[in-house]
Amino acid sequence: MRREKSRSSLGVLLLFAIIIGGALYIYNSKMFERDIPTVTMNNSGYWNLKNPLDISIEDASGLKSYKIIIKTSDEERVLYHEQFMSVQQSVHVKVEPPKSAYAMKDKEITIVVEAVDASKWNFLNGNSAVVEYKLWIDKKRPHLTTIANSYKIKKGGAALVIFKADDDNLKDVYIQTNFAKKFIVEPFYKEGYYISLLAWPITKSNFSATIIARDKANNISKTKVPLYIKDKKYRLSNIKISDKFLKGKIADLAEEFSETQGVTDPIEQFKIINEDVRAKNEKLIHEITSKVSDEMISDFSINKMYPLKNAAIVAHFGDHRIYSYKGKAISESYHLGLDMASNAMAKIKPQNSGDVVFAQYNGLYGNMPIINHGLGLYTLYGHCSTLNISNGDSIKAGAHIANTGKSGYAMGDHLHFGILIQGIEVRPAEWMDKTWMKLNINDVIKSAKEIIDRG
Ligand SMILES: [Zn+2]
Repeated sequence: MRREKSRSSLGVLLLFAIIIGGALYIYNSKMFERDIPTVTMNNSGYWNLKNPLDISIEDASGLKSYKIIIKTSDEERVLYHEQFMSVQQSVHVKVEPPKSAYAMKDKEITIVVEAVDASKWNFLNGNSAVVEYKLWIDKKRPHLTTIANSYKIKKGGAALVIFKADDDNLKDVYIQTNFAKKFIVEPFYKEGYYISLLAWPITKSNFSATIIARDKANNISKTKVPLYIKDKKYRLSNIKISDKFLKGKIADLAEEFSETQGVTDPIEQFKIINEDVRAKNEKLIHEITSKVSDEMISDFSINKMYPLKNAAIVAHFGDHRIYSYKGKAISESYHLGLDMASNAMAKIKPQNSGDVVFAQYNGLYGNMPIINHGLGLYTLYGHCSTLNISNGDSIKAGAHIANTGKSGYAMGDHLHFGILIQGIEVRPAEWMDKTWMKLNINDVIKSAKEIIDRG
């Protein structure tokens, strides 16, 4: 009797174990997973009713069906409904706006995504997800108006443009060029107005700039900056490399740079210095001078530049230099500044205030301060002997910032004076010319302000 009882309780226990084991098996098996499908939509909360909405639905156990519904103030319509014969892990739907949407007056609509997975959970019904997206409707493109601009731009030179970009949901605005450079624009004077200096790199044979404004619903407007394009020829100079030069300056520089360590051939040393080291030094300069403030600028004025008193011009901006050794061309470079020479260790005094953003040694450029004058405009002073300023200093117009010298890749004591706009070297001649500055900078700003004030 006792034995039978214990046997039957053992049976109950075994049954229990089977039930629990089965339940655990179901609970942990993929077939019975309890995770609802994941729904994602690439959206900014706005829809222009033109570009399709991108919806992705995913589930580990696969999807059984999904439905996409649009809810407006006067209808609720199923846009897509699909039931899968064979289980699918994920589905991407490009949701086109319904035709009725074009006439729709709603400012806001709702997109509902319902998805059911192929899990056996929920008494074989699967797990379902319902996700709602509220979208603001914005069908209007931003409105762009050019307010004032320089009349022309010369190859290697600069120009200024001021424009208005109007949109309730403006997302970004910038200026795109034909050479893949995007100029950053800065808010100017009053809400909705923007300003930017533009630069035409000497290495690009053509120039065009287009203002682009995009709102949060991805409506895009474009307008070309109306600039008259003027080509300019730059000097091509052939420079013979002498053994004296290789054994002197180049041998000295080769000891200094990591790039030339272990290289013994003087021609190879020269090529590395003129190409690799130069590229590295210029990359740093371009990085430092590409920054533009995003704060509103209410005014911009700049004085004619001439940082070295009683100086002679010893090399021009934009010279394309071809270097040859024993009659054979071995390397080339562009001279991206203006070389000015006066007495040895002459005082360098920029005519414009600004912030010092770099004041260190930079390879071929030697001791090199860079000053930020705002609006993406920077000035650079190469080959200095001594520096009187440090990174982070603010300087006043006329401050004695450094002395000329021959640090870096310089034969004699001189100043390499560079002007950059958003990382692009431009012709110093324009910024040293009172008439050019009046016509292209000061008058453009003045007339833009007058137009803006008239409303
Ligand atoms: Zn130079």
